[in-house]
Amino acid sequence: MQKENILIVGQGIAGSVLAFQFPEDRFHVTILDDGHLSSSSMVAAGMWNPLSFKKPSIGWNSEQLLDSARSAYGRISEKLKIDFFYFLPLNRIFPDQRSANDWDDKSTERTFGQFVINNYGKKLHALVKQPFGHGTVNHAGWCDLPKLLNTSRDFFSKKNQLIEGTFDSNKLHFDEDVWSYDGIKYNRIILAIGSKNSTVSYFDWVPLYPNKGQVLTVRPKEYYSEEILNYGNFVLPIGDGKYRVGGTYEFNDPNPSVTEESKQKLLNKLQSVISDEFEIVDQKAGYRPTIPDRRPTVGEHPNIKNLYLFNGFGSKGVMYAPDAARQLVDFIMHGTPIDTDISVRRYFKS
Ligand SMILES: Cc1cc2nc3c(=O)[nH]c(=O)nc-3n(C[C@H](O)[C@H](O)[C@H](O)COP(=O)(O)OP(=O)(O)OC[C@H]3O[C@@H](n4cnc5c(N)ncnc54)[C@H](O)[C@@H]3O)c2cc1C
Repeated sequence: MQKENILIVGQGIAGSVLAFQFPEDRFHVTILDDGHLSSSSMVAAGMWNPLSFKKPSIGWNSEQLLDSARSAYGRISEKLKIDFFYFLPLNRIFPDQRSANDWDDKSTERTFGQFVINNYGKKLHALVKQPFGHGTVNHAGWCDLPKLLNTSRDFFSKKNQLIEGTFDSNKLHFDEDVWSYDGIKYNRIILAIGSKNSTVSYFDWVPLYPNKGQVLTVRPKEYYSEEILNYGNFVLPIGDGKYRVGGTYEFNDPNPSVTEESKQKLLNKLQSVISDEFEIVDQKAGYRPTIPDRRPTVGEHPNIKNLYLFNGFGSKGVMYAPDAARQLVDFIMHGTPIDTDISVRRYFKS
């Protein structure tokens, strides 16, 4: 059987996970990327966590998302021969007594309880302030996105499946049911360009907005932990005595640079929870590709055949991308409908 040619535009976590989801015996995938010029994935902390903390509850579709994530990252890890997807307990510091009580009540429920562990008697590092205590999530962790993306890029490049450059609509043509881009024929084109969605006209009607965020990498003087701390913000151990701290949400800021103001905000909040001194190793800023209903947005263009969108991963690309990739590939291969929650059809005008 002749293989179908697929062109994926964008090599963030979305485009990368999607590329690995297509069975190699039926598809030949090529990725076009501009060198991560606007990459959210290279800035992200990469954490994943099935719970929501404001009012303790299980996050949207968490069980299915985690199943797909474990399975997809496991397969990619074998293919690339690297580890990048890690499990780490996450300690949620309660901001007040009511939150502590709510957590205790909720933990007795089977569905919520399966994600948390009884941590009575468990001590956090002595420098952590926790007047109302903490709860521990046992199914959480992080994905080393730069490691995954850089290794994937080398992998695709060595197999001549990577084109370096910026997508140019003038080079794209559709003729007799087949696409061509820059003279090469493709059966299907998939746009996975994250926060730059509106720079390419085909799906610019999808209400996706860039939501700026900043993270720090710090080296504490004394604090040490191999677990994640969450206090509204997070402290994630990344090895070598360093921790990632974040993240800010800065709506409507078109300036892509890091700012002193956000650094101070992150640092002040950190020091309100951990009484220590912190050397700032690094500060990064990026834009989350966010949709108002906070769901991915995936599917075929309403009027243009074999042109697809794979975007809207907001602040949860690590957990959301594998299940959305599974659904898009099932749709392409078998016509299986994409869940209405994430289908681009919810933005079609009737
Ligand atoms: C501060 C911060 C912290 C975050 N923390 C987390 C976290 O802990 N956990 C989590 O799951 N998520 C987190 N996120 C969100 C996460 O980064 C996103 O959900 C995810 O990276 C989106 O991936 P993507 O592939 O859709 O987009 P991107 O990563 O932006 O990838 C798009 C790619 O397409 C390229 N591109 C764009 N336009 C073109 C073009 N015209 N031609 C060619 N290439 C193009 C870009 O340069 C980039 O390489 C965080 C985000 C930020 C900003």
